[in-house]
Amino acid sequence: MIWYPYEQMKTMRQPYKIVDAEGVYIYTEDRKLIDSVSSWWCMIHGYKHPVLTEAIKKQADRFSHVMLGGLTHEPVTELAEKLRDFLPGDLDYCFFSDSGSVAVEVALKMALQFNTNRGSGRDMVLSLQKAYHGDTFKAMEVGDDEDYHFAFGEKKGVVHIPTQTEALEEAFRQYHDRFYCFIAEPLLQGAGGMRMYDAAFLKRARELCDQYDVLLIFDEVATGFGRTGHRFAADLVCPDILVLGKALTGGYIGHAVTVANHKVFQGFYSDDSRHALMHGPTFMGNALACSVALKSIELFETENYMEKIRKIEAVTRREMDGFTDPRVKEVRIMGGCVCVEVYDPGTLKGFQQFAYERGVFSRPFLKYMYAMVPYVIREEELVKVLDVMKEWFER
Ligand SMILES: *Cc1c(COP(=O)(O)O)cnc(C)c1O
Repeated sequence: MIWYPYEQMKTMRQPYKIVDAEGVYIYTEDRKLIDSVSSWWCMIHGYKHPVLTEAIKKQADRFSHVMLGGLTHEPVTELAEKLRDFLPGDLDYCFFSDSGSVAVEVALKMALQFNTNRGSGRDMVLSLQKAYHGDTFKAMEVGDDEDYHFAFGEKKGVVHIPTQTEALEEAFRQYHDRFYCFIAEPLLQGAGGMRMYDAAFLKRARELCDQYDVLLIFDEVATGFGRTGHRFAADLVCPDILVLGKALTGGYIGHAVTVANHKVFQGFYSDDSRHALMHGPTFMGNALACSVALKSIELFETENYMEKIRKIEAVTRREMDGFTDPRVKEVRIMGGCVCVEVYDPGTLKGFQQFAYERGVFSRPFLKYMYAMVPYVIREEELVKVLDVMKEWFER
């Protein structure tokens, strides 16, 4: 049987069975649902996009995969070149992997080894409160999830701070000679509860990281490709290492990339073989994933997705304007993300089925009802998603 994610298998409800998907819609045998979650935020172009499907079919007719150990190919070299041009600053060195969590592992390993390669014994990571960086062990360690503490106990060597400048400065005052990196989901913390914060915090972090020679890592697995209303938060403040996943392939195939700047790459580039980065996921640089990622980025540029996202944000602000309810703590909106935070998780119990019956797929968690829609959504479809969210409170 299938062991489903984040579920107590004994009490979970039957999952909705999807038989087809196209555009913003997923289809069960008898219903058509707008996917307001974009399949965990990755499906930015909607389902079954003809250009992306064509790209992956064409590549499958040539070859689907060869390993990157000792081999290379056109889709992966083209994607690395494309990312070099598409990403800000000197984020030019692409290490590919098969998922966001692994790409985070690679980023942390890079940062740690960057320091050991130069003989430094730094042993601590700075991270944010409510951080989420994936489900593998090191990613969980730098994350700040109560479930982790509950299941695996306390952890050493990670300092968690709120997104406030004073806390940031205080952490650096205390531990500046022990941090090897600061890892953050920039502007928008997703799985920790759609928490939004200001770029000024990141600018100050960049200054302090420069001052104390600490590597700055942006985990843009969720925020990358426009979700915050910026192409990348890295366009505002440039990190030393950038992690991309989720929307990277337009939702077609699991693939991710850890992109290093020149300084980080130089920390490994040496005559000493022990200074090499010892990592290599089997499916890194997968040819299907790379060919579809290339087309996904091309669509993002030529179809002016940033304009689509601005429109989504404007419509969302208009529709949510004036919405209040005593059970609602806050409504937060940033780019292509809207979150209604309630005081009591019980308030959202039953909402998923309520939305389903009205033609919307939603997946609230804890105290958060949210939407991260595919960017190709039409205005009336977006309005429907937001109406369903509001109607839940107006019953
Ligand atoms: C989803 C997510 C990850 C993990 O990516 P997977 O592909 O699920 O392993 C890491 N960081 C952030 C910020 C994410 O949202």
